[in-house]
Amino acid sequence: MANETFARPFTRRRFIAGTAGAGLSLIAAPAALRQARAQSWQAGNPFCLGVAAGAPRPDGFVLWTRLAPVPLSSNPETPGGMSGGDLGIAYEIATDDAMAKVVRSGQATAEQRFAYSVHLDVAGLEPGRPYWYRFKSGDAVSAVGRAVTLPAPGAALDRLRFGFVSCANYEHGYFSAYRHLTAEDPELVLFLGDYIYDTIEQNRPTVRRHSDGVPATTLPLYRNRYAQYRLDPDLQNLHARAPALVTWDDHEVENDYADQWSQWFVEPARFLQQRAAAYQAFYEHMPVRPILSHPEGPVMRVYDRFAFGDLIEISMIDGRQYRSREACYGPPNKGGGHLESNAGCPERLAAGRSMMGFAQESWLYTALAHTKAQWNLIAQDVLMAQLKEKLKGEEAFWTDDWDGYPANRTRLIKRIADTKVSNPVVVGGDIHSFFANDLKLDFDDPASPVVATEFVGTSISSYPAPYELFAQAVPENPHIRFFESRKRGYVSVDLDRSRMQVRMRAVSDAHDPNAAISTLKTFAVENGKPGAVEA
Ligand code: FE
Ligand code: CA
Repeated sequence: MANETFARPFTRRRFIAGTAGAGLSLIAAPAALRQARAQSWQAGNPFCLGVAAGAPRPDGFVLWTRLAPVPLSSNPETPGGMSGGDLGIAYEIATDDAMAKVVRSGQATAEQRFAYSVHLDVAGLEPGRPYWYRFKSGDAVSAVGRAVTLPAPGAALDRLRFGFVSCANYEHGYFSAYRHLTAEDPELVLFLGDYIYDTIEQNRPTVRRHSDGVPATTLPLYRNRYAQYRLDPDLQNLHARAPALVTWDDHEVENDYADQWSQWFVEPARFLQQRAAAYQAFYEHMPVRPILSHPEGPVMRVYDRFAFGDLIEISMIDGRQYRSREACYGPPNKGGGHLESNAGCPERLAAGRSMMGFAQESWLYTALAHTKAQWNLIAQDVLMAQLKEKLKGEEAFWTDDWDGYPANRTRLIKRIADTKVSNPVVVGGDIHSFFANDLKLDFDDPASPVVATEFVGTSISSYPAPYELFAQAVPENPHIRFFESRKRGYVSVDLDRSRMQVRMRAVSDAHDPNAAISTLKTFAVENGKPGAVEA
């Protein structure tokens, strides 16, 4: 923090003056900050968890690493095998991937309080271009990562390629999907939740195990989950190659939780302590803004917005922290998602219920009313379109996705329609299935106009949603244009001013560490025409 407060104005001035390389020694380390001595990393490579960039702005971004020479340390006093106070480490930012043209260097702080993670908030760089970066400490040097700055606000931008991913259960499969996305060279990746799983698999086949062998409920356990996932080379390479925009779903904390309400009816005050541990571990491992996302007990802001010139505005939504309780919540088995008919659970339809919470709703609606971007992406965690199922012969709805919060969904879709948002597209995950959907004000009225388009990405590796069950329900939901749960993979998006092309990419077998990739389906959204059309 101390570093950031005086580095910012200084570096901005230096950029304007154009005296690159001059005066860096003026950035003195805070007196108390320790430095690693040369040859001091005999316990292991402190950068074995890799590097990541995220939270881009027109003049900078956040660079992340975490010092962890013993990444899966089970001693809460020495996370990652580290001890002692904050540690200063060196960083370099260059305009080439060989790190030959360094335009910025200085000192970042690995914070003891946050498991020696670094969230370096860099400012004063040029807009709309890639940069490369690395960290150094003693004799250790990190991998080189790639970051980008956003174009200047409103600047003309012709195209953008990005991917979106969700639901990477480490035990259920390998991360070949991440590897293939990296090979597509996306300019950014949206992580839409279930980045880790708090659970351990009890019944189904596993290809590898969560190291602790127990569900994550405490800070050391959540830290170990993230560390174990980040040791995976496919995930680590994706982060080094592509900047990340991140939000979470439930498994970063616990299945199907809603705000302070646990699926297992844990007393809310106690559950909030677990949530605080989980949110802190998320912060410690993600390239999020250190001020905006600084965790305060069980509260941590992840929702944020990123504008890529005049081409696209991306709103990253938090669908968990501020939710109303699951509709008709109660023991023994209605703590998380469950099916409810309208007659059986009128509460589900109540106007006062919100998935986003009213502060976040208002933040989003204000942005949607003012956006000038050609495309407007709402990136969030769960299925938004209605999915009408059957329960004892009656129409029924799943309470954990947007069907549990229809009043919020209607407010959002109505806002999009009323304020004539340009090319609104919603993306999500959670359901371990591909979907392409038309979003409408009234899903039960075939004449209700299509307002927005939704694409849902399947899981990276997590086991599928029940195919037969959903395939039976799809004909009753004609706004669902495509559904497939039997494939694992990700979604790759190629955007220009006139068209969004969406490729649903499937791996051959998530149990095969060398799985191949293919395109399962391609959709397009044409400028001015909401709705998914097979391309
Ligand atoms: Fe999941
Ligand atoms: Ca989920």
